[in-house]
Formats: sequence, C-alpha cells, structure tokens
Amino acid sequence: MSDCVKCGVKVEEGVTRCPGCGASLIKTGTFMELIGWVVVIISSIPIIIGLKTLDQNYYLPMVIGGAVLVIGAVLIVLGRGKSRAAADTVKAPAPATRE
Ligand SMILES: [Zn+2]
Repeated sequence: MSDCVKCGVKVEEGVTRCPGCGASLIKTGTFMELIGWVVVIISSIPIIIGLKTLDQNYYLPMVIGGAVLVIGAVLIVLGRGKSRAAADTVKAPAPATRE
C-alpha cells in the first residue's frame, strides 16, 4: 500500500488511477516505453518476411522492419528516461501517529 502524492488517499499496488482524486498514477514514460515494446514486436513481422525475401534480392521488408525496430528502440529509451525524470505518483505511507 502507498499514498497518493496529490490527496494522500491510500492506493492499492497496480492501481492506475487514484480512487480519491482521480489522478493518473501511471508515469508518463511507462506508457511510452510500453508503446515502444509493441512497436518492436510489430517490427518482427516485416523482418521475418524480409529474411525470406533476402535471397530474392528483395530488401524492402527488411529495411521497413529495421526502421520500425529503431523507432521502437528509441521510444523505449525515451520512455525510460522520462520515467526516471518524472516525479513519483505515490509515496510511502506516513507512519501512524499515536495520540
Ligand atoms: Zn489522489
């Protein structure tokens, strides 16, 4: 369990939106990195086609696959950098005070 930085409400692990104030608890870079991985996975399709057409001197699918792979890799790197720079969305719960 941790607390929402904005309103202090307790939020469960893995929750993407604060139940108290509705603030998004996903760091911006995390989403970008996820898109990057999806792009990398998609790039494998033209690369696989490209491997089959290479011996026919047909390089276009390989070039497209390579370009898409690079785009995905750039998104992953940028997303990771953003995650590191972004402020925390949750904080450790404050210790209970005795009254
Ligand atoms: Zn909140």
